[in-house]
Amino acid sequence: THFLFHSLQAKMSRPVQARRLEGIDKNIWVEFVKLAATYSKVNLGQGFPDFPAPDFLTEALTRALGGGNHMLHQYTRAFGHPPLVKVLAQFFGKLLGRDLDPMTNVMVTVGAYQALFCCFQALVDEGDEVIIIEPFFDCYEPMVKMAGGTPVFVPLRPNPPKDGKLMSSADWQLDPAELASKFSEKTKAIVLNSPNNPLGKVFSREELGLIAELCVKHDVLCISDEVYEWLVYDGKQHIRIASLQGMWDRTVIIGSAGKTFSATGWKVGWVVGPDRLLQHLRTVHQNSVYHCATIAQEAVAQGFQRELMLYGKPESYFVQLPKELQQKRDWLVQSLDGVGMKPIIPEGTYFLVADISPFKSDVPDVPNSDEPYDSRFAKWMVKNKGLAAIPLSAFYSEAHKNNYPNFIRFCFAKEEATLKAASDILQKWKQEKNSS
Ligand code: PMP
Repeated sequence: THFLFHSLQAKMSRPVQARRLEGIDKNIWVEFVKLAATYSKVNLGQGFPDFPAPDFLTEALTRALGGGNHMLHQYTRAFGHPPLVKVLAQFFGKLLGRDLDPMTNVMVTVGAYQALFCCFQALVDEGDEVIIIEPFFDCYEPMVKMAGGTPVFVPLRPNPPKDGKLMSSADWQLDPAELASKFSEKTKAIVLNSPNNPLGKVFSREELGLIAELCVKHDVLCISDEVYEWLVYDGKQHIRIASLQGMWDRTVIIGSAGKTFSATGWKVGWVVGPDRLLQHLRTVHQNSVYHCATIAQEAVAQGFQRELMLYGKPESYFVQLPKELQQKRDWLVQSLDGVGMKPIIPEGTYFLVADISPFKSDVPDVPNSDEPYDSRFAKWMVKNKGLAAIPLSAFYSEAHKNNYPNFIRFCFAKEEATLKAASDILQKWKQEKNSS
């Protein structure tokens, strides 16, 4: 029996997980979504609207469900339900000024998240380097690693604002020389996210031109995460890097119906790009997810048909939504500024990042802790004040997590009542501080 026990133990000590999972097991969303569910009274953490999706979209889904076509409950084409890829090809063809083939230039995915996964699995090989601009939507790093690649980080650096004004996301910029220094013969791709989560930065034509030039010079691909393409404020313009010289053939554009139509739970996303890249994404897709829910694709297709018809008109959702969100942004900016939690005014997205410095005295730092201060602060805030937000360090690589310890990210894609409740919590907190 002694011998038997020994051999059993030996078997059980063998690692069960694949090596590619090493070091990527933690996930900020799993942790903070749970904290918010347990403690928050007001949740400005994870990026989703708490207002309803537009009627035309939910009505399209109801029609699809109850209408005459029972085949909408069955499988559809693997790489995208034909009505959806057709209208996406038309819509993005118009935006990019080029003829798109719905069958080869578009693929539908389970949210932008799976689109990203397909890109990294299909295009990144062992030993390849992938440039990621910090701060970044956190999944880029583990996804690159899972594909065997090495993430190479380049920061957006803040320039101090002029004469006491609030900072803007536009004040966070790439250093051109530093960016250029990250490109080498090992570089396979760069991930671009404009408008950027978490800062809300909308990259300018000059900034995109610089990135494009380096991509062309070094024969590098661009994975362009444009899920917030319609959420751009103050008359700013979202520029698609794929429309710049030499970029179409090396760019994959990623979009999300969740962000586009305020229905993040539907998890319908897409990629648009040249067949020479998309053919490999299709290989990953057909060997993993295979295809996405037919009925949700049908309803999203109808949403896009409506938007194609109303393109640029005041009734268009893509015109109305940013107007509404800009108001919500201004509202949250005002209430944060009012309590001294200085916000960085975002040019786009659902999010803004704010400086928590004046509130730090309530939340003691623990010297030499593994946890960045902003993360400790965000946890304290949700547990003690019932307000959920996300620490900025969640959007930095391990080595840079302590670079900006005094910022947290708020989501303002919320009902007025939610934003008011958040503002009330902050004001009460500030009064308590003043009187203590
Ligand atoms: N990219 C960015 C920059 C995001 O912020 C998100 C969602 N938070 C995604 C991709 C994923 O989008 P989806 O919900 O469509 O999977």
